[in-house]
Amino acid sequence: MSARLCLIGDPVTHSLSPQLHNAMLRALEIEGAYEVCRVREGELAVFFDAARAGAYCGFNVTMPHKKAAFDLADALTDAARRVGAVNTVRIEKGRTIGHNTDGAGFLHAIKPHTVNAKDKIAAVLGAGGAARSVALALADAGWQVRVVNRTPSHAQALAELAPNICAVELAEALCDCALFVNATPLGMEGEKADFEDLAFLRALPKSALVCDLVYRPAETALLRAAREQGLDTMNGFPMLCHQAVDALAFFLGKPLDHDRMMAVLKDVIT
Ligand code: NAP
Repeated sequence: MSARLCLIGDPVTHSLSPQLHNAMLRALEIEGAYEVCRVREGELAVFFDAARAGAYCGFNVTMPHKKAAFDLADALTDAARRVGAVNTVRIEKGRTIGHNTDGAGFLHAIKPHTVNAKDKIAAVLGAGGAARSVALALADAGWQVRVVNRTPSHAQALAELAPNICAVELAEALCDCALFVNATPLGMEGEKADFEDLAFLRALPKSALVCDLVYRPAETALLRAAREQGLDTMNGFPMLCHQAVDALAFFLGKPLDHDRMMAVLKDVIT
């Protein structure tokens, strides 16, 4: 078996995905490579055609193309259809099958931290692609999800996707929450904006988990403040790794030993 895979986006050079996927391919003794391919806005349809013609057997999609990839895919999995965005594409007999692994990756990542959560109430900050994936995955797993967003109408649109998701103000979101998720780029390396005031964290219960989907830097100002307050914290690395394992399984069209692949990835990022 041979696999020619890549990540498309713009920018993409900073991505860890090649290291993660190439380590898994080596561990599985599968010939091939996972590379990065800068695809600018306006070039996506041409890339899809090249992939259909056999340039790749699968690819991941990152900013700014997740929504456009949804529109271009020849077929969609339920996960992609519900989220309205595609981050993983398999080529099957010349057709592009769009999928989304972000939500499942996030659920996998928080599992060890939330097994004892009594009240499954979560606050998600953001209403973009990542927030949609995370909020829907949590809602499907039985959580009550409160979405807070800079543009309230985007939070409202997200709340319409499931009965147990609602759009609220930050002040109303945190009481009794077992989980707080930053699904915005605030605090991300290279992003100018960061949280101006982190005092809102004091409204969370002491047992809450604070997650940042950002993984560069490994500890954002949000996570540092949460840790200093004694809260449990998790950055975006575990989600990135879990979704990468799920993406490779989708590319290969077969289940993988998830725990074994996570052990391989742990060696890559430590
Ligand atoms: P996106 O679709 O562009 O959505 C960004 C969201 O953040 C929107 O809701 C936007 O609000 C909000 N936002 C942006 N700048 C803001 C600011 N200055 N103040 C307040 N809110 C702001 O982005 P995305 O794809 O969802 O990605 C969000 C973050 O998740 C990024 O940091 C990305 O790297 C990370 N991520 C991590 C993983 C992982 O595996 N760890 C996977 C996917 C994404 P508006 O609606 O008002 O525009």
